[in-house]
Amino acid sequence: MQDICQRIERAYQLFFKHHKKGVRPPGFKKVRKYKSFTLKQAGYKFLGGNRVKIGSKVYQYWNSREIEGKVKTLTIKRTTLGELFMVVVVDNIIDPEVKSETSRIAGFDFGLKMFLTVSDDTKIASPLFFKQSLTAIKKASRQHSQKKKGSANRERARKNLVRRHEDVVNRRYDWFWKLAADLTDRFDVLCFETLNLKGMQRLWGRKISDLAFAEFLQILEWVAQKKNKQVVFIDPWYPSSKTCSNCGHILKELDLSIRQWRCPSCQSVNGRDENAARNIRTVGASTVKLGNVRQALPAIAV
Ligand SMILES: [Zn+2]
Repeated sequence: MQDICQRIERAYQLFFKHHKKGVRPPGFKKVRKYKSFTLKQAGYKFLGGNRVKIGSKVYQYWNSREIEGKVKTLTIKRTTLGELFMVVVVDNIIDPEVKSETSRIAGFDFGLKMFLTVSDDTKIASPLFFKQSLTAIKKASRQHSQKKKGSANRERARKNLVRRHEDVVNRRYDWFWKLAADLTDRFDVLCFETLNLKGMQRLWGRKISDLAFAEFLQILEWVAQKKNKQVVFIDPWYPSSKTCSNCGHILKELDLSIRQWRCPSCQSVNGRDENAARNIRTVGASTVKLGNVRQALPAIAV
């Protein structure tokens, strides 16, 4: 009840704010379209043995990972496949002692061909999961559209199509978690440029959703906090590509197509991405306070 009231409240506030722009008041939603509901303090109880009481009924669930900390909310989600998931948000405060050594600071530059260029001259190529699975998705999509509307065959084809999309998402997440674990093993402080997602979308178009930098950063920040490592974001206006990482000379202009340039001041040859990664490392390192930093972990869903 509490959550539904808040959702309606939110919807009405948006309507009051934007109704002059033609936004319609919130309407009724079909049960079929209802994808989730959230329980706050009351209405559920964890019984142990992977059982939870919701309302007056007891449900058994499969536990994907231990629930650590104080439970804040419980959300039940239904996917497009009709599967039910339980999302638990917990408040978990750990006392990390951030240990950082200057030798273990790295700068990272996101790119299209190379997912990440690291300041120590290593590169991490982007597996374009979506591209790999595109043929399968196209086929599934074609089969779906050929089936008669409302038929059982069409429903089966729809589920097949949803599963193909889910495959991509799952594989991408798996890769992100593994990469985040690897990078936080190798480095103590990880420096990135602040993402300008709207700008990148304009620049690169659809492919950006394929690479999903923002998603990766979210995972990385979480893993880093858990392992007492730091993720640092530098000023988005810092000219990381145009500055020579060797002598600090700043170019007036650098076209996106130029992959390599010779510094007019010190004559060193700079690879575009490698140079940017090194600059991001330098700027990031200058903002880091080395020593112990106490941080509270934000609430996250398990
Ligand atoms: Zn130079």
